[in-house]
Amino acid sequence: MSNSTDFFRFHNVINGVCREGTQTYQGVNPSTRKPLWDIPVAAAADLDDAVSAAQAAFPGWAKTGWAGRQSRLAEARKILHENRELMAGLIVEECGKPIQFASLEVQHSLDFLDFYGKVRPLEPRIVQDDADLKISVYHVPLGVVAAICPWNFPLVLAMAKISAGLLTGNCVITKPSPFTPYSIIKFTELVRDAFPAGVLQALHGDDTLGPKMCEHPGIQKISFTGSTTTGKKIMASASKTLKRVTLELGGNSASIICPDVDVNIVAPQVAMGSFFNSGQLCVASKRLFVHKDIYRPFLEAMINTVKSWKVGTANTEDVMLGPVQNEMQYNVVKQFFSDSLEKGHTFAFGGEIEPQADNFVVKPAIVDNPPDESLVVTGEAFGPIVPIQTWENEEEVIKRANNTETGLGGAVWSRDVARAERIAHSIEAGTIWINSFEKPLPQAHLAGHKQSGIGGEWGEEGLLSYCIPRTIHYYKNPVVIE
Ligand code: NAD
Repeated sequence: MSNSTDFFRFHNVINGVCREGTQTYQGVNPSTRKPLWDIPVAAAADLDDAVSAAQAAFPGWAKTGWAGRQSRLAEARKILHENRELMAGLIVEECGKPIQFASLEVQHSLDFLDFYGKVRPLEPRIVQDDADLKISVYHVPLGVVAAICPWNFPLVLAMAKISAGLLTGNCVITKPSPFTPYSIIKFTELVRDAFPAGVLQALHGDDTLGPKMCEHPGIQKISFTGSTTTGKKIMASASKTLKRVTLELGGNSASIICPDVDVNIVAPQVAMGSFFNSGQLCVASKRLFVHKDIYRPFLEAMINTVKSWKVGTANTEDVMLGPVQNEMQYNVVKQFFSDSLEKGHTFAFGGEIEPQADNFVVKPAIVDNPPDESLVVTGEAFGPIVPIQTWENEEEVIKRANNTETGLGGAVWSRDVARAERIAHSIEAGTIWINSFEKPLPQAHLAGHKQSGIGGEWGEEGLLSYCIPRTIHYYKNPVVIE
């Protein structure tokens, strides 16, 4: 295990070495609004050095082979596991997550290293193999991949990119969100000797670093998770060098609850789907559609669940919902509350945000049957406020669920599996859960439809997003041209 004093000193990791910077930055603890630890800000020269180191490391890493790379991932997993408690403690302070959820994030990060550490190799596809000709399609690594990450699950979302990107033979440079730079920088520091220098690097930077990565001619791919607005900018700037992009973006997922469910079982789970991580989950249930026949008892059961949760700063004992992660998001969430208040919507639970001088805690709110066109229904609050609405027939609810420019996730709840599957197949989104709230898993592919993304990651299919096809035509009996 790492010495705990060193654990809270942070460096960019470039070519296997921890590097200080001429400028430093401090994140903000969402539970106190106080500054966290110093972290260097990468300069343009740091990015150039990291790209050069990755380019130099790439040929050797690509030749290391699947099993060799998996053994390095296993080593990284071991190191993270040894440091799991310190890492969870760090996430509590950097993200404002209660310890049980910070520990869960570390566990899910271990699960990614485990999954990609064991997954079967990507075999070439043999298109044709006869007496004259063999055509094989291989999946070869792209080169240098920049992983640009968001703040809501800083460690696990970066780990998904790192583990798949490295396994396929690429060199990865991770860029955490400036709101949450610490966990991924620390992970990269801890595991730097598990990989050859230049294979895995991490740079924390200011707002200019992401755009510089997108334009850098030495980077072949941007793997991005974040907002749709930023995703569009990334695609535009990556187009200048025709970089590959995978964009995992925002969403406004609908949860459709059929009239045959057991309200007392389902309502608490739906509440989790909306409010887990204080609503800061990309695939969270951001719009709830409950059949009119069970609407009132369902709403009551959901309120009872939410009422029973302790809301507060991350270190409050037994806390269920911690603060919103940063001030920018706190202000976004506030707008959703004020809009509903101004428009006269009914709050079935919660209401006004109580101003907090020393944290970003927002008490959860449920808005009772607001109109379809209201901001709380059409927008992505990415915070603890959710609209709940009634529906009457399947066709109508599917139309309303799909009435959005995004298509990330969704959930369907019914005892009638055929009905649930029928509805699930009608939702224009990349991942649908039946009879569960949204629980993304490493082995399951994740991709957004419509403006929720381009391409996808995770699962075996996700490996392909880090590869480029190379087709070999092998003529077995070359003809002699006279
Ligand atoms: P964001 O788009 O503001 O920032 C994400 C990252 O992009 C950060 O590292 C940021 O520094 C960087 N960035 C910002 N501008 C850039 C630019 N012009 N060029 C390159 N990089 C740039 O997103 P966020 O606020 O960190 O995350 C919240 C959003 O992410 C929500 O919309 C949420 O739904 C979405 N999200 C999606 C998924 C998914 O898997 N689809 C997962 C988590 C979060």
